[in-house]
Amino acid sequence: MIKEHELDKLIICKKCHTLYEKVPLTKNEKAFCNECNVLLYQQDADMLNKSLALVITAGISLFIAFNFSIININIQGLEQSLTLTSLFMVLAEHEQYVVGLLFLFIIVIFPISILLSTFVLLFFMKIGKAPYLTKRLLILLAHLKPWNMVDIFFISLLVSMVKLFDIANIELGIAFVAFLFMLILDIIITKNLSFHELWLLHAQTYGYKDE
Ligand SMILES: [Zn+2]
Repeated sequence: MIKEHELDKLIICKKCHTLYEKVPLTKNEKAFCNECNVLLYQQDADMLNKSLALVITAGISLFIAFNFSIININIQGLEQSLTLTSLFMVLAEHEQYVVGLLFLFIIVIFPISILLSTFVLLFFMKIGKAPYLTKRLLILLAHLKPWNMVDIFFISLLVSMVKLFDIANIELGIAFVAFLFMLILDIIITKNLSFHELWLLHAQTYGYKDE
């Protein structure tokens, strides 16, 4: 049976599906496919620093998104601003506990857990400490990633806003922009941070060999 970390040494070309065995690269070196010249993998020396900066910015955006108004609604002179807290209050008032709980996980618990564990992971890998913790975090993040659904919340927010446009005056709040900003950052982080490279970097940083 082939062990998982043995598979990690292999890489397949996305375009022509040629199989290669990975070789260690030096700083900023790139490996290309012999057949079709597609980029296979690279050693991005700044990956940790770049990602750390992005994660911190995303954290600040999330903090703003939680504390400021998402939208201001004006229905015939009656003005109301919607914050995340007031959203949960309204849901509780209407006894929508299941929806409330779902929202709590999608918008609050999962994003915070993902950002926080990514931050701790990158930070410790950067200073080369806590090999066990970072290994557990890599595994945890692989499980958490599919639950990153702030985008779904954002889309449902847009849909409900479009419905409200007919009957109310809607102004976008600071938190709305912060949510949007966080989504964009999240896409960049996901693109920048390859788990495959993180595992490789993990082995390099803490200096163990694949058994
Ligand atoms: Zn190829």
